Amino acid sequence: RVSSSPRNEELRMAEVALTSVEKTYPNGFKAIHGIDIDIQDGEFIALVGPSGCGKSTLLRMVAGLESISEGAVSISGREVNKLEPADRDIAMVFQSYALYPTMTVAKNISYGPRLRGASKAEQSEIEAKWTEMVGLRGFEDRWPRELSGGMRKRVDIGRVYANDPDVLLMDEPFGALDAQTKERMQSDLLTTWQKSKKTVVFVTHDIEEAIFLSDKII
Ligand code: ADP
Ligand code: MG
Repeated sequence: RVSSSPRNEELRMAEVALTSVEKTYPNGFKAIHGIDIDIQDGEFIALVGPSGCGKSTLLRMVAGLESISEGAVSISGREVNKLEPADRDIAMVFQSYALYPTMTVAKNISYGPRLRGASKAEQSEIEAKWTEMVGLRGFEDRWPRELSGGMRKRVDIGRVYANDPDVLLMDEPFGALDAQTKERMQSDLLTTWQKSKKTVVFVTHDIEEAIFLSDKII
């Protein structure tokens, strides 16, 4: 894939830097044995490996959902080891759906900004922008239960982007979708990424998916 941005020519501080990161779970099992990764601003990185190799563990440490046993994780030049997930400027998409069943598509998408005090006008603008970007125009007033799996995933991705984080973390987000829906979602995610220029760390066990989507594969 041809990269559309000039970011490779520019010298930039790593957006996400992992330095000698290790993880030992409370039961004594060592899942991560010292990892160094530098991810540049705006890159799309895939973390690939077989089931059980530690992909989710690593992503959850970046997100702040798992403690870091050794080493350091920094985001946008700031060490985040001790920061709560909400203070890290990240947003995460999981394999399952994280939608509010009692909110419409539009309200799910604008939930984060609404919590942070966005005005009605700002909320409408965000809802319009992200329903359009994830291909859900015309479905703004639907309930999650009225959507297919693929459409729910689109809401999920719109919700995460609407929070405007520095870094998006995705843990096998399309793992539960049928092959054709998955292909469309992959293309649409790429289009969204190219427009938004956000850093994405995408975990998958699917090498073809990684090759199709990413600038770099780890
Ligand atoms: P992946 O996402 O690549 O499939 P995980 O990061 O989920 O792998 O798991 C990596 C390893 O850590 C596996 O061997 C798994 O059994 C182990 N593991 C995951 N979570 C825990 C936990 N809470 N306690 C102990 N071991 C765990
Ligand atoms: Mg996993």
